[in-house]
Amino acid sequence: MSRQIIVGNWKMNGTSRDSLALVQALVAGVPASAADVVVCPPFTQLALLTDTLKPSTIALGAQDCHKDSAGAHTGDISAPMLTDLGVSYVVLGHSERRQEHGELDETVREKTVAAIKAGLTPIVCIGETEDQRESGDHFDILGWQIKGSLPDGFAGILAYEPIWAIGTGRAATTEEIAETMTFLREELVRQFGEAGKNIKILYGGSVNDKNAASILSITDVAGALVGGASLKAEAFLSIISAA
Ligand code: PGA
Repeated sequence: MSRQIIVGNWKMNGTSRDSLALVQALVAGVPASAADVVVCPPFTQLALLTDTLKPSTIALGAQDCHKDSAGAHTGDISAPMLTDLGVSYVVLGHSERRQEHGELDETVREKTVAAIKAGLTPIVCIGETEDQRESGDHFDILGWQIKGSLPDGFAGILAYEPIWAIGTGRAATTEEIAETMTFLREELVRQFGEAGKNIKILYGGSVNDKNAASILSITDVAGALVGGASLKAEAFLSIISAA
């Protein structure tokens, strides 16, 4: 099995000082043999962290990008602007962006195309709401999200994040994750053929230092997308060692 990927999604948290201290602790604490590690700070802190991260194997990610490479889009950041700063990953279609910024599958697909074109590795998020899971519609929803959000020839990373598990402290159970992974793999192969076998799938939603080992040992889980627990060096480092 290839190395697992542990991605820290800091969301809209931290001052420059906090972020620098966190990254310094991670650089000092990540063992060389560990999983691939990615941190995704807010845009305003990307440039600040590149020098500190340079001597380490920790990669830099962003939390969004625009579909266009440049132009009249006040307040937006393009994919080439991210590569220009040494960013190599970008989280796209996070449920918070889908909900708070009205991003549709189509928007996410266009951003994914832009990210790939700029040389970034997209981490495309999908996930069902609690109601959708309870009504048994979750697999249909996930299938549509894959179809709508991933462009033809997609060769990035997919992140399965049940919305009801994000920031709630209630991660999906290992059974729920295992069953969903099986479904997602079948769906990826159905939509992308042979190439669908190689798309890495991360789990995200209340991953912490206590549940990481059992989640990361589920078949086909290629790593984790971690929110809250990625803001504390000790917790994030112990998730990394569980990979
Ligand atoms: P959480 O967030 O780990 O705080 O649940 C995960 C995410 O939103 O990526």
